[in-house]
Amino acid sequence: MSDIRQTAAQMAAALAAGEVTSVQLTQAALDRIAAVDGQVHAFLHVDAAGALEQAAASDARRAGGTALSPLDGVPIAVKDALTTTGMPTTCGSKILEGWVPPYDATVVRRLREAGLPILGKTNMDEFAMGSSTEHSAYGPTRNPWDLDRIPGGSGGGSAAAVAAYEAPLAIGTDTGGSIRQPGAVTGTVGVKPTYGGVSRYGLVALANSLDQAGPVTRTVLDSAMLHDVIGGHDPLDSTSIDQEWPSFADAAREGAGGDLSGVKVGVITELSGEGWQPGVMTRFQESVDLMVKAGAEVVEVSCPSFVHAMAAYYLILPAEASSNLAKFDAMRYGLRVWPEGDAPSAEEVMRATRDAGFGDEVKRRIILGTYALSSGYYDAYYGQAQKVRTLISRDFEAAFEQVDVLVSPTAPTTAFKLGEKLDDPLAMYLNDLATIPANLAGVPGISLPNGLAAEDGLPSGLQILAPALADDRLYRIGAALETLHEREWGGPLLAQAPALVEQTEGETR
Ligand code: GLN
Repeated sequence: MSDIRQTAAQMAAALAAGEVTSVQLTQAALDRIAAVDGQVHAFLHVDAAGALEQAAASDARRAGGTALSPLDGVPIAVKDALTTTGMPTTCGSKILEGWVPPYDATVVRRLREAGLPILGKTNMDEFAMGSSTEHSAYGPTRNPWDLDRIPGGSGGGSAAAVAAYEAPLAIGTDTGGSIRQPGAVTGTVGVKPTYGGVSRYGLVALANSLDQAGPVTRTVLDSAMLHDVIGGHDPLDSTSIDQEWPSFADAAREGAGGDLSGVKVGVITELSGEGWQPGVMTRFQESVDLMVKAGAEVVEVSCPSFVHAMAAYYLILPAEASSNLAKFDAMRYGLRVWPEGDAPSAEEVMRATRDAGFGDEVKRRIILGTYALSSGYYDAYYGQAQKVRTLISRDFEAAFEQVDVLVSPTAPTTAFKLGEKLDDPLAMYLNDLATIPANLAGVPGISLPNGLAAEDGLPSGLQILAPALADDRLYRIGAALETLHEREWGGPLLAQAPALVEQTEGETR
C-alpha cells in the first residue's frame, strides 16, 4: 500500500522493507497530479512514462538487493530552472519554449544516479524573478491552502507540488529566497545550502554569485536526505566547494529528540517590526519561547547592514541577470521571431524575439542591470552594492561569533492574493527582506513551517541561518524545532490544511 501523505523517509523505509514498490509510489504521485494539478498548476511538464520506467528499474534493483541510495525509488519533482535530458527546460519563459537540453544538470544527474524517478518539471516565475510564480509565462501556480492565493516564488511550483502531495520531494533554486519563501507560505520545508555546497552546473543562471539549488520537502529529515544526494563537490562548477560534508540525514536524526540545550540562538533585530504581519510575529515569538523551553539560550543580535540588503540585491541581481540573459538571442535556443518586412537583419530578429519572448519583469531587470553596469554608473551603483555586500558578510561573521544560529520569520507576511502585488514590483520585492542577506553572504538557511497566523489561518515560516559550511546545524536544530512544533500541533502543520490537501483520491492503491 502506498500513501501519498507519507514522508520521503517513510517511503524509503517502506521500499527497503519491501512493503511497497517504486512503481506504486510513482503511480500514486502521478494519479494525485492528474487529480489536483488542474487546480494547483504546480507542473509545467509531467513525464509519466519516464518516471514509471525509472521506477520499474528501481524496483528491479531493490529486488536484486542493490539500491543506489536510501531514496532509490522515491519520486521527485524538479524546478524548471535545471536542465534535463528528455524533458523540456523553459525557466517559465516563452523564450525557451520547447527547448530540450542536451545535458542533465549535475543535481539532476545525481538524482538519477541515486535512483529517484523524476515526475516532471515545476512552474516558476520567469527566470526565477519573482515571489509569487505569477511571472511564469505559462500561468500562475496556486497555493494548495487557498487557491486564490500565491504559493510564493520563484519556486512556487516545487513548494505547491510538495504541499499538495503531488510529490514527496522537489528541487528548488534560491537566489534571494525562492526556496525558503515558498516554503514559508505553503507550510513546507525549504533549504538553501551554503553557496558552493550544491553544484550549479546546469542550473540556468539568474545571478551566478547568488544562485543555489536545494531541497523542498515536507520534513527536515527529508530535506537532509535529499541534500545528501545532491550535494558535494562537482568539478563542472568552478564555485563548487571541494570538501567532505557530514551526513545531513544523521544531523537531522540527532536533532529529532527535540533537545536544544547548549545551543545559542540569535534573533535578528532588524528582521522584525513595522510592516511585519502581527500573526507571523506572534508565531515567531512562540517558537522562540519553545526553543528556550527546550534548553536554548536566546539573545538578540543586531545586523545593522541588513537594512541595505534589498537595495544591494536589486543592483547585483539585475546586473548579473542582464549579462546572463544576453545569450537568449534567437540564434542558440528556443524561440525565434521574424519581424515584419523582407530580409530582416540578425539584430532585428534578436530584438523581435527578445521583445516577444521575455515578460515585463525580466525586461525590467535587464534594463536596470544594464544601467547599473554602464560606464559612469558602475562605481556609483554596482560598486557600492558590492561594498554593502561585504558589510552584510561582516555582520554575519560578527553575529556567528556570539551565536550558533540566527533566526527570523522567513517572510514578512503569509500568502497574499493572486494579483495583489503584480503591478507593484517594490511590494513584491519586499517579500524577500529576510531571505536575501543569506544569498548575499553565501550562508545556508532553512525555512520551517511555523504555525498559522491568527488573522488569516495561513502558514507562516521560521528561518534558521548558520555560518557557511555549517549546513548540518540547520538540520540538527531544524529537526529539534520540528519535533517541538509537532508536539504542540499534534502532528505536521500540513495536516491542518483545508480540503484540497486532504483529498485522498489516488492516495492509496
Ligand atoms: N524573489 C526574489 C527575486 O525576485 C528571489 C528570486 C530567487 O530566489 N530566485 O529576485
